[in-house]
Amino acid sequence: MRHRIEGQEFYLIVCHSCGISFLIPDKHDDSLRESHETFWCPTGHDMSYTHKTEEEKLRKQLRETKKYAAAECVAKTEAYKRAYAAERSNAALKGHLTRIKRAKGERP
Ligand SMILES: [Zn+2]
Repeated sequence: MRHRIEGQEFYLIVCHSCGISFLIPDKHDDSLRESHETFWCPTGHDMSYTHKTEEEKLRKQLRETKKYAAAECVAKTEAYKRAYAAERSNAALKGHLTRIKRAKGERP
């Protein structure tokens, strides 16, 4: 819970071990949430923000989306290469068939 005291923002933290409440500057709280560093309550119990921030979640989602898009691009490129190779092979077979028909005196 955020509190404003004499123009400065603070965040109220409740220790999960002893239940003591204490305030830390809002910016320091943001920093602890981003860094996941350990900090201590006034009586010495350690704690940290282990859950991911919204920015971290979005960055992870973006990385996964980029990975998926890259895999899709590779798959499409491979499919294009296979289609191109099949088309070239088909053209070569048609040419070969035409030569055989001409050799037999047939009209291609
Ligand atoms: Zn404590």
